[in-house]
Amino acid sequence: MAKRDFYDVLGVSRDADEKTIKSAYRKLAMKYHPDRNPDDSVAEDKFREATEAYDVLKDDQKRAAYDRMGHAAFEQGGGFGGGGFGGGGFGGGAGGVSDIFEVMFSDFMGGRGGGRGGRANTKGSDLRYDMDIDLEVAFHGDNKTITIPVATRCDSCDGSGAAPGSSPVNCGTCGGHGKVRAQQGFFTVERTCPACHGQGQTISSPCGGCGGQGRVQKNRTLNVNIPAGVDTGTRIRLSGEGEAGLRGGGAGDLYIFINVAGHELFDRDGSNLLLTMPVPMTTAALGGTIDVPNLDGKIARVTIQPGTQAGHRLRLKGKGMPGLQGRARGDLYVDIHVETPVHLTSRQKDLLAEFAEDSKKQNPESTSFMNRIKSMFSDKS
Ligand SMILES: [Zn+2]
Ligand SMILES: [Zn+2]
Repeated sequence: MAKRDFYDVLGVSRDADEKTIKSAYRKLAMKYHPDRNPDDSVAEDKFREATEAYDVLKDDQKRAAYDRMGHAAFEQGGGFGGGGFGGGGFGGGAGGVSDIFEVMFSDFMGGRGGGRGGRANTKGSDLRYDMDIDLEVAFHGDNKTITIPVATRCDSCDGSGAAPGSSPVNCGTCGGHGKVRAQQGFFTVERTCPACHGQGQTISSPCGGCGGQGRVQKNRTLNVNIPAGVDTGTRIRLSGEGEAGLRGGGAGDLYIFINVAGHELFDRDGSNLLLTMPVPMTTAALGGTIDVPNLDGKIARVTIQPGTQAGHRLRLKGKGMPGLQGRARGDLYVDIHVETPVHLTSRQKDLLAEFAEDSKKQNPESTSFMNRIKSMFSDKS
């Protein structure tokens, strides 16, 4: 699917100022927020799209890069197992979604960047992994193994960031609060402590394994259970499998975003499946049976009534996609495509010509249509 222009996504002009962009995003975010639209994958996509656009346009540098190069400016290299892997989660790392939204979305975003307990929150980022699957896999469900590079808690220091035998000490500048106060005119403002960068602690001898970060980049192999009935936009959350926090902070979550590929026979509309089946003209006229395939691998024999017209739609109840989360299975719709015979022998031509001579009553629609056209044109002349 082609990526939409970020300005179009937010519905703002290319020279829109910061305030306009923010207010446009705010409106969209309120409308499409997942908490307000549970299990609505369309809303979820819109929310994601808007957040991604806002994340770029609110940042002068990213916006300039986007204006110059478009989406290419942010393309991540390297796919993993058919999927792409985007680091940084939604809105990318600390301070990704700014101010008011930080609070408003804290549940969804995993409550990052808070500093609620006085000390800066060093929870790891949520991560996103895009997984492409076939319609068959979406139908049956599956277990897939993925390997992703992810910041993982360092084993040598158990995440503390301090070399074995030593331990982090409270920062002398902020006394362990992670924040310092400064007088600015009439106001006292609180800022992140410059000495410990909000950590509240400093490390005198950093762990050699992680350089004091408390986490290291590792390939992690995970088993992803794909439930039957998933659709493009379905999000599977693997709690705690995101990035490890800084120096022992809690891990973020990993979100698997499903993208279901198109199928050569079946189209999908939510939980329903659509199939166009060619039926010989003679079967359509005389009636008979057709063998309708299904994604479960079985064939259903279906009766065609005599006089079935092209475009007629049959409904096979409960033969569509499985429902997610206990919802009912969808239906399979079969659209009849009447096939006109080709390469006729002369005997077949004679038979059909003879049939045509005598078949005005058998084609009531064509006959009355032609009559109406004739009367229209004779009235005019
Ligand atoms: Zn370490
Ligand atoms: Zn400090």
